[in-house]
Amino acid sequence: MEHDAVIVGGAFAGLAAATYLARARRRVCVIDARQPRNRFADASHGYLGFDGSDPLTILAKARDQLAAYPTVTMIEAEATEARILGDRFMVSLSSGAEVAARKAILAFGLRDSLEPIPGLKERWGKTVLHCPYCHGFEFADRQLGVLFRTPMSVHQACLVREWGPTTLFLNGADLDPESAETLAKHRVIVEPGRMKRLVGEGCALSVAELEDGRTRPIEALYVAPQSCLASPIAEQLGAAIDDGPMGPVIRTDADQMTTVPGVYAAGDIARAPHTVSWAVADGVTAGTSAHRALVFD
Ligand SMILES: Cc1cc2nc3c(=O)[nH]c(=O)nc-3n(C[C@H](O)[C@H](O)[C@H](O)COP(=O)(O)OP(=O)(O)OC[C@H]3O[C@@H](n4cnc5c(N)ncnc54)[C@H](O)[C@@H]3O)c2cc1C
Repeated sequence: MEHDAVIVGGAFAGLAAATYLARARRRVCVIDARQPRNRFADASHGYLGFDGSDPLTILAKARDQLAAYPTVTMIEAEATEARILGDRFMVSLSSGAEVAARKAILAFGLRDSLEPIPGLKERWGKTVLHCPYCHGFEFADRQLGVLFRTPMSVHQACLVREWGPTTLFLNGADLDPESAETLAKHRVIVEPGRMKRLVGEGCALSVAELEDGRTRPIEALYVAPQSCLASPIAEQLGAAIDDGPMGPVIRTDADQMTTVPGVYAAGDIARAPHTVSWAVADGVTAGTSAHRALVFD
C-alpha cells in the first residue's frame, strides 16, 4: 500500500506528526521500534497535562488515540533502510517488507552512551539524570553532582546549582582558570578525583566513591551523555547533519524540512536542547508542513 507520508520513529515527535496528518485525512504509516529515549525514567516532567506521568503510558495513550483515525497504519518494527525511487520514498523494515510514501518524516530520536562508571547505568533516568528542568525539582536542596564530560559540563554545573548544593566531579579532567572562576562565582564545589563507583540502595544514590578512597555525599548526578542518531536513515537519504552541543542535529528549515526535499525531521534528532514538549511541537510542524507540501507541491 502506498502512503502519503511514512514516519520513521513513532514516539513524541513521530506520533505528533502522524496525528496532524491523520486529522488532515492523509494516509500515514508510522514505523516504530518502541524504544523512546526516556524509557528509563518512571516519570516525565514538564509536558502540560502529563507532568509526572510515566512516559510509556503517555505514548500508549497517544497511540490509542491515533489508531482511531482510519487512514493510519502503525507498524511495530525497525526501519533498516530508506531510499529515494523517483518521486517516492521507500523504507525497508527488518521483516523485509517495504513501505512507499510521497513524503518522509524522520523522528527516530537519539541513542545515549553513558560513562562506564559502576552504578551509573542502572540509575539512568532515576537518580542519574540528563536535565535539571526535567528532573531537578524532585531533588531540590539535596546534594547534587555533575559529571564532567565536556567544557559544557561547567555550564551544566552552574545551572544545576540553581536547584541545590552542587559538586562538579572532574573525574580526572583538567579545568582552565576561567572555568574555575565561573564555578566559584556560582558556588559550585569542584572535586578533581576520579570517580570509582556510585553507591546507594536500589536506584537511590547516597555517595560517590572516588578512586583514592574518599567519598562525597550525592543524591542525584547530572550527566551529559554522548548521543548519536538512533538510525542511519538520514545519512542514507543524503540529509545534511551538523554537530550540535548535545550530539548530531539533522539540519532543518523553519518547516522542519531537511536538506532533502520532501524529507522532514523532528524531535531530538533535529534540535537541541531536548524535551518532550519540543519534540511534540517539532512533530506538529513537520506533520503540517508535509501536509501542505502534499497539497501545494
Ligand atoms: C533519562 C531521560 C529522561 C528524560 N526525562 C524527560 C522529562 O522528564 N521531560 C521531558 O520533557 N523530556 C525528558 N527527556 C527527553 C525526552 O526523552 C526526549 O526529548 C524525547 O523522548 C524526544 O522525543 P523523540 O520523539 O524525538 O525521540 P524518542 O522519544 O527517542 O523516540 C524515538 C522513537 O523512534 C524509534 N526508532 C528509532 N530508530 C528507529 C528505526 N530505525 N525504526 C523504527 N523506529 C525507530 C525509537 O524506538 C523510539 O520509539 C528525558 C530523556 C532521558 C534520556
